[in-house]
Amino acid sequence: MRDKPNIVVIGTGGTIAGRGESAANTSAYECSVLTIDEILAAIPETAPLANLRTEQLLQIGSENFDNGHLLKIGKRVSEVLKDDSVDGVILTHGTDTIEETAYFLHLTLKSPKPVVVVGSMRPPSAMSSDASLNLYDAISVAIHPDSRGKGTLVVANEEIHTARDVMKTNSFKLEAFRSPYGALGYVVEGQPRYYRAPSRDHTMKTEWSIDELHALPKVDIVYAYGALDEDVVGSVASDARGLIFAGTGNGNVAERIVAPLRAATRDGLHVVRASRTGNGVVIRNGAQPDDDYDWLVVDDQAPQKARILLMLAMSSHPHERSALQAAFYRY
Ligand code: ASP
Repeated sequence: MRDKPNIVVIGTGGTIAGRGESAANTSAYECSVLTIDEILAAIPETAPLANLRTEQLLQIGSENFDNGHLLKIGKRVSEVLKDDSVDGVILTHGTDTIEETAYFLHLTLKSPKPVVVVGSMRPPSAMSSDASLNLYDAISVAIHPDSRGKGTLVVANEEIHTARDVMKTNSFKLEAFRSPYGALGYVVEGQPRYYRAPSRDHTMKTEWSIDELHALPKVDIVYAYGALDEDVVGSVASDARGLIFAGTGNGNVAERIVAPLRAATRDGLHVVRASRTGNGVVIRNGAQPDDDYDWLVVDDQAPQKARILLMLAMSSHPHERSALQAAFYRY
């Protein structure tokens, strides 16, 4: 019998691996310098919780991540999860794009074991850093039986969020992470307390497995604003296969942008109307006749989440627009 759960902690960099010149540097510091072993060594309270095995997979700020990094992380986490002696995985990650990587894992891993992605808003060297508590809480969540089968989780500021919903909503404050429908639960004195479970399909119930994904189709995001020029659609990368239009309000598209977007659709680009508000739904055939234009809409996915989902949906249905639309309502 095991004395404690076996947890693998994979480091990828970010502020949680950062170091400032002085303890007063809460927002200006060098990112991705501490190894995962150095980060954990500074939190001796974690040792009694679990047998921790560490791996340094990457050492970069998450603003630099591309699709290659997503695949690399996903494949490594999947491999680790297949080891019968491993009970759960923690991924330390920069907070900038934590919500994208976590959602990608949530949709592509094929395991009920807990996977917890964690970062921090202040480096371990700063006054009132959240690094130690966030990582301690992440371990508490990863070893808890109630965390099984909930997909990928993001732990921050004593809250447990589902990867589907969580977003970084503040550039420097500790309470930066929000889910539109609220967190799944809290971590109180190292004890997870769940109040809700994810309702949309994830992990075991999705059509994608990270082990079978070798490349992802390119999807770009265009952000709408008052004076957005029609040329912007032409500036989308020529190898892009999908375009998330982060429209104003309910996925609205300025009149002058409609023709270029329709032309791009006719050329084979999948156009998805999303909302730059980051909250709420986009109504199909509401502000625009999506059926007539052969456009797609998100359900409630924010543009950066919609990009992840569209890439995956296109990997199994490159041309079938009804299947792509269905993915937004299912996941
Ligand atoms: N730029 C950092 C990153 O995303 C910010 C952070 O970790 O908080 O890697």
